[in-house]
Amino acid sequence: MPGGVNSPARAFGGVGGEPIFFVRGEGAHLFDIDGNRYLDYIGSWGPMILGHNHPRVLAAVQAALARGTSFGAPTEAESELAELIIEAVPSIERVRLVNSGTEATMSAVRLARGFTGRDVIVKFAGNYHGHVDALLVAAGSSAATLGVPNSPGVTRGTAQDTMVLAYNDPASLERAFAEHGQQIAGVIFEPVVGNMGCVVPTPQFLTALTGLTAKHGALLICDEVMTGFRVAYGGAQSLFGFSPDLTTLGKIVGGGLPVGAYGGRAEIMDHILPAGKVFQAGTLSGNPLATAAGIATLQVLRETGVYEQLEARSAQLATGLAAAAKDAGVPHTLARVGSMMTLFFNAEPVTDWTSASHSDVSRFARYFWELIARGVYMPCSQFEALFVSAAHSSDDIEATIAAAREALVRLA
Ligand SMILES: *Cc1c(COP(=O)(O)O)cnc(C)c1O
Repeated sequence: MPGGVNSPARAFGGVGGEPIFFVRGEGAHLFDIDGNRYLDYIGSWGPMILGHNHPRVLAAVQAALARGTSFGAPTEAESELAELIIEAVPSIERVRLVNSGTEATMSAVRLARGFTGRDVIVKFAGNYHGHVDALLVAAGSSAATLGVPNSPGVTRGTAQDTMVLAYNDPASLERAFAEHGQQIAGVIFEPVVGNMGCVVPTPQFLTALTGLTAKHGALLICDEVMTGFRVAYGGAQSLFGFSPDLTTLGKIVGGGLPVGAYGGRAEIMDHILPAGKVFQAGTLSGNPLATAAGIATLQVLRETGVYEQLEARSAQLATGLAAAAKDAGVPHTLARVGSMMTLFFNAEPVTDWTSASHSDVSRFARYFWELIARGVYMPCSQFEALFVSAAHSSDDIEATIAAAREALVRLA
């Protein structure tokens, strides 16, 4: 395998050393091949909001398995997952299930272009939307960590149709629309950024996004692959109170199996084949095992008071980490929305890629390994958000803060 992995974020490029191989997950814990146990704050990069091996998800997948793994034909489970999504996210009137977040954003971009008849897509530096050619320009996540925000193989023609602006900068968005408004098909953004570390949008930025796209007939594509069912059941759009034209989902919506989704207003979504003419298809889309895991996960999230518990645990962790860094004399800023957060080794507020990139990544690498030595598995890059799951107990959080205290005093 190139670099020994099937996805670059796993290769520990941001912290050095060898990736850990895992054999088992249980609740808030992961177990490696050497028998070590870790408190997991990656959660498979977002999907495992209920923790590993949740009994209801496991039972749902086992029951689906016994009925057959793939039919390539409609099933009731697909309708059930679609209904759960539509009920959770009011801006979604129609939804199409796919197999990954990348497929969701790729399809949403094609739809925005097909619907508007325009070519240009606006994105923001440090935002990551999967490995879609048009969106691998100034990309975040492992692209930022490994220093290849603009991938070789993305043609100049493709890059020319992608306009990159700074996050949280309404004035530059206003200028872009004033100069190129007639060419812009859509604006895609992370409503809370996770892929340059956790970065929170300002209300002015959100207002500019909704106002300018509506004014100029461009579609607002809210990429909630990470934030959907994470920062709130209805995603960041329900938390902040805005209504995008299209929304992309992934990660949690598949409960740890491969599911992505994109949806929005019926008049836009009905341009997708076979209702309309914009092509998009998938042999394994709506797969029975994957939809079973997604349905079970959303049902648990909807029925129980998970979000209140996540908020309490996450606030406890954020307060503890910030206090530990302060006591250790380590310059830092902590950004959090719900159960996603980043401790930046950066004294300044982090609002965009430029400020995020001023973080002390070598200090982060030492922090990461000090925590590994203490049984805590944090994201292996300064430019990724950590996730708290419903399986993390208050004692788990206290143990994590204690480990971070020990780690941070060694880094000052
Ligand atoms: C993870 C992620 C993607 C890509 O999803 P994959 O399932 O990895 O293809 C897209 N957008 C955002 C915001 C993400 O966090």
